[in-house]
Amino acid sequence: MAELGACSQCSGDVTADSDFCPHCGLLLEAAGVQQCEMHPDKEARGVCIICHSLVCRRCSKRVMGRMFCSDHKEVEVVQDWANAFESTETHEADLARSILESCGVSVQLQNAQSIGFIWGAGSESAISRSQINKPVKVFVPIPDYLRALQQLAEWKSGDDGSDRSSGTASE
Ligand SMILES: [Zn+2]
Ligand SMILES: [Zn+2]
Ligand SMILES: [Zn+2]
Repeated sequence: MAELGACSQCSGDVTADSDFCPHCGLLLEAAGVQQCEMHPDKEARGVCIICHSLVCRRCSKRVMGRMFCSDHKEVEVVQDWANAFESTETHEADLARSILESCGVSVQLQNAQSIGFIWGAGSESAISRSQINKPVKVFVPIPDYLRALQQLAEWKSGDDGSDRSSGTASE
């Protein structure tokens, strides 16, 4: 049975036998000294919380206390959720959600209605009009992020007018 401990950096839950903290990417003592995957002569300072690559000071980026590799530094992360997709079309975001949910990925939608939507007493018009084009963001759990992107890429490539019919070509 794995003991639970707390990460010394973010105080998130970590199991005693894990090599890194899944919440912030800090390398834990159990991992020992590790080398950066991009720069084998450099000591890794942590792992990217999205893809778990070992990264050094030079090729990592810390955003809000979390470690990212150069490929994933632009990913928007809120708590333990990552933004996998966004669209100003509500139905498109809904479609993305149903695709992901059908693959067993849990999804949270974030949109203008659910965050910071302030109905000031009687003065709603300016705010609601300015928020109507805000994208709906589809967040997935960080461990599912790469899988989610792959599913969405498959969906998009099937959707993008490649007119190879999905029917089986039979002889
Ligand atoms: Zn941590
Ligand atoms: Zn990464
Ligand atoms: Zn590096």
